[in-house]
Amino acid sequence: MQLIDSKPLTSMLSTSSFISIALVLGVLTSMTRGVSVGDVFDIKSGTTKGGCDGRNIDGWFADTVTLANSASTGAAATDQDSRKYLKTFFSIGPQDDVTQAGEQKWDDVAFDDVTGLPRVDGKKVQDIFPKDTTGLVPFWSDDLRQYLKADSGDYCSNKQNLAATQDQTAPSTITLCIGNFPSAQGDTLANVPSVTKEKVSVSTLQVHSLTLFHEMFHLVLGTAGTPDHSYNLNSIVRFGTPKAIQNPESYTFYAMAYFLGQNTQFTFANSKSVNKPPPANPKRSTEDHMSILAKFQMYKQDLPQGVWVA
Ligand SMILES: [Zn+2]
Repeated sequence: MQLIDSKPLTSMLSTSSFISIALVLGVLTSMTRGVSVGDVFDIKSGTTKGGCDGRNIDGWFADTVTLANSASTGAAATDQDSRKYLKTFFSIGPQDDVTQAGEQKWDDVAFDDVTGLPRVDGKKVQDIFPKDTTGLVPFWSDDLRQYLKADSGDYCSNKQNLAATQDQTAPSTITLCIGNFPSAQGDTLANVPSVTKEKVSVSTLQVHSLTLFHEMFHLVLGTAGTPDHSYNLNSIVRFGTPKAIQNPESYTFYAMAYFLGQNTQFTFANSKSVNKPPPANPKRSTEDHMSILAKFQMYKQDLPQGVWVA
């Protein structure tokens, strides 16, 4: 199933010299504020070959809006509990469906980007699309009428894969491997199991919509700047800031934890449920939270372009 981004957010952001967490979350929030999923994505119709009909795209998108709002609130809040979340998750102190895209060989006759049919001049894929030397193979996207490079095979046929974002093509695409979503998980934030005790990890409170939320960071920040350093919470909480702010799952755990903190009787500031501290701290902090966040700026890195990330 695929969503296709129809707005040039990636190129817009790549011109910035740095992006703070607040800005990242703010962009995501403004991108999703007051809009429906159809305003941001072209959603492939139908039920075959990557079509999204009958899937809960609206519900998942609504959750990304909720989570982006929650995370933005958290990043801007100055109370001690809110700061602790940033400490935990960021070490901050005070496709186009590949089946649909169609795998080709480098010496196959190429498709024509105007007609979508095999080229009448007989030119081969390698004549019009630079051949890859690292083993990647060419895929033709019928929807985008463009080539991209990827590993051979159907991405979602690997049951480990939940989703991927790629920005080799314009517009960029998000592919969701819905058949691989864990069936034991709920679908949206409304289906999160209720938390009734302490020491429940945010990692056990996952729902399907978080996959789309995760992919949105690849989409907004660009795949080159968002290598998936880890999906594992135990690893993530040990990352330093430079690594954490590149890692989409860090934002995903952070947003989910803060959301749970706002919507249950517990704080998840340490990543596990703990009874909330008594309301204290009458003296409002005078430290400007933006100056705190400014210490944790994100520098775009020169990583190889054209990578698929999950
Ligand atoms: Zn990822």
